[in-house]
Amino acid sequence: MKLTLILYLLMTTIAYTQHHMPKSIEDEVKFALSYYPQLENTSIHFKFKKDIKKSTMQAQPAFSSFFKRKGDRSYYIFISETVKISGETYYTKKMPKEVLIGWIGHELGHIMDYRNRSNMNLVWFGIKYLFSKNHIIEAERAADTYAIKSGMEDYILKTKNFILNQSDIDEKYIARIKKFYLSPEEIMEIIKQRDLKLAKVLE
Ligand SMILES: [Zn+2]
Repeated sequence: MKLTLILYLLMTTIAYTQHHMPKSIEDEVKFALSYYPQLENTSIHFKFKKDIKKSTMQAQPAFSSFFKRKGDRSYYIFISETVKISGETYYTKKMPKEVLIGWIGHELGHIMDYRNRSNMNLVWFGIKYLFSKNHIIEAERAADTYAIKSGMEDYILKTKNFILNQSDIDEKYIARIKKFYLSPEEIMEIIKQRDLKLAKVLE
């Protein structure tokens, strides 16, 4: 009895050694990760950063990963300590839990996208991200799509609504969000497709 308990504890600890995160957001990170069993053995470091240009969080492969096989890659998710939404500053740690979970879920969607790509493809992906707006749109939508396929739609929608429902949000910002991310209608369509597929598998 005792031995099985020790074994169990040992196994769960081993499973989590691949994921490193600040204590203050541990619950939200682990919750979001629970939607991605495929990432259980993928090394991911969550780190707070003072300021990230133009975004709240950022997922990227560790530089050293480019010299490794794609299965051995490790990733960073940088999280800005504060978020500015149309002039108002929010502390990331103090955002509603569900909004934070949705945000982390989106970043994990990026990692799902990266892990299927070869090293060369990733380098090219990074260059295009810097210079092509259409490529950014494609990448952001892919991340949302992965999150929804993993079952995180409620959280993705909460995050989106949180941003869009801030009072005195400026038009430009809304236009940017609408351009780069999926609309609620598109999200519904992905859910429909996902559930149709699932129904076929279960038939
Ligand atoms: Zn993104």
